[in-house]
Amino acid sequence: MDSVKLINRLFDVIEQDIIPDTRVTIARGSCVFGGAILNKSDLSTVVATGNGQAENPIWHGEINVLNTLWKTEDRSKIPEAKNCIFLSTHQPCSMCLSAITWAGYDNFYYLFTYEETRDIFKKSGDIDILKEVFGNGENDRPYYNPKNAFWTSYSIREMINSLDKCHPDRQVLLNRMNDIFKVYVELSNIYYANMNKPVTN
Ligand SMILES: [Zn+2]
Repeated sequence: MDSVKLINRLFDVIEQDIIPDTRVTIARGSCVFGGAILNKSDLSTVVATGNGQAENPIWHGEINVLNTLWKTEDRSKIPEAKNCIFLSTHQPCSMCLSAITWAGYDNFYYLFTYEETRDIFKKSGDIDILKEVFGNGENDRPYYNPKNAFWTSYSIREMINSLDKCHPDRQVLLNRMNDIFKVYVELSNIYYANMNKPVTN
């Protein structure tokens, strides 16, 4: 698959599908992490959601996406996992890594790293759990195996950086990524501001 086409489409999904839902869910008190599932064949969106932690602490963006998908009344309309792309706005936590695995997806793509989630979004739980529960992320142990028997994971930033420095789309993609970063910083500021206000529905 053409990686530039794929990255642009993942950015489209974040901007057009995930962020609008995230603006709704953060108003209810959920945080900014979202996700989506796309068809591999034409990169169309199957489902995209923000986060549901205001309703249930384990309804991370990825779980919210899977919950929404499996509420589809006609189950014949749910595409097989092997035919789908899984997108997480933020590198999936240990629970969501397992959820993606149990749901059968052979891939996931993410924008923000664990370190950015900790440093920009002030959420250190992903790294804390991987270190404290699993003993990963220290002493040369990776947080997880980015390529394993179940799936291969892709950092969108690394995909962009791996393009040839002279590639005509490289800077355009970096600019798009930076624009999305700015929106997420704004969303995160709204989330933290909302924590001090009454929850609205
Ligand atoms: Zn998670």
